[in-house]
Order: sequence, then C-alpha cells, then structure tokens
Amino acid sequence: MSYQKKTDYAPHIAPEASVRCEAEGCAEPGMYKAPKSKNRLHDYRWLCLEHVREHNRQWDFFKGFDAAAIEDFIRDAVTGHRPTWSRESRVRQSYHQIQDALYEFLNPGSKAFRAAPAPPKLQKALRTLEMNYPYTARQLKRHYRALVKKHHPDVNRGDKTSEEIFKKITVAYRVLLEHLDSF
Ligand SMILES: [Zn+2]
Repeated sequence: MSYQKKTDYAPHIAPEASVRCEAEGCAEPGMYKAPKSKNRLHDYRWLCLEHVREHNRQWDFFKGFDAAAIEDFIRDAVTGHRPTWSRESRVRQSYHQIQDALYEFLNPGSKAFRAAPAPPKLQKALRTLEMNYPYTARQLKRHYRALVKKHHPDVNRGDKTSEEIFKKITVAYRVLLEHLDSF
C-alpha cells in the first residue's frame, strides 16, 4: 500500500470530488496522491486508483540508493531482522535514508519518524552532547569534537570544572556511539 486516500490526510487541500485524475485523458476523480519523485515527496499529482497503481508499479523507489543498503532494507522488511551492520557505515546511512524516504512517502508531510522521542537511556547523553535524536555517526563525531575542543583540560589549564565536563562528554559520546546501531 503505497498510495493514500485523499481524505486521510492533507487537510490543507479540500477533498473536492471535482478534482480530476491528472493522468492524461483520464476523467476519473483524482482521489490518490502520487509524489513526483522521491526527492520531491511533497510535490505530487492527484490520480485515480487505476493510475496511482500504475504510478506505483513504475516508481523505482530504490533508485539511487546504495545497493547493499537496499538489500539490508528488503531483508529487514521481509524477515523483520535488523541488519547486523557488519558493513561500513555508508551502508547504514543509506539504509536509514531509505527508511526516512519511505516513511515520508507513506505519511506525506509527517515528521513523526524524525520527531520520535529518544529512548530514556539516551536522553542525558543527548543533552550533554547537545544533540537531537535520531542522530548519525557523523553528527555524533562532529558534536563530540566541538565540545572536546572547548572543554579539554589541556586548553583550560587543568581547570577542575573543565575536567569534569570533559569526562561527561566522553561518557556521553561512548553511550551514543554504542547505541548508534539500535535504531
Ligand atoms: Zn486516472
């Protein structure tokens, strides 16, 4: 099910029965929306059921994504087993991008995936590193490095407060790094 009934969402658009299917020469009511591309998920056409089905058959959702990540994604979708991430982080990044894009496709305009609350065990570490959830390995490293630069005891002449902050930052970094694979 990769299409949605018009009435299920998009309250900013009046569910007028008079909207025609945008497929050329079609006179059926356009009740389903179809994104124009996966890079433009908020930009869509209204189609009738028959044409939205045709659209979905032709829509190569995975085009442009990392092949190994697609493999993992499909295996996960079919078996429910999360990949073990023995592969490089590039694959993991791509996998998460697929998840995001697919979620956006199925729930147009929704930020629910991104706005999912962080697990309680990560909240303190996220606050310490001034980060949002979910995060990527790159974001984690960037925040960690920036804070280390600022609070490293060496640059603060052995200041005790800096030393405490530095320790907290490092602990938080390890916690977040460890859980990078769990979402
Ligand atoms: Zn049509």
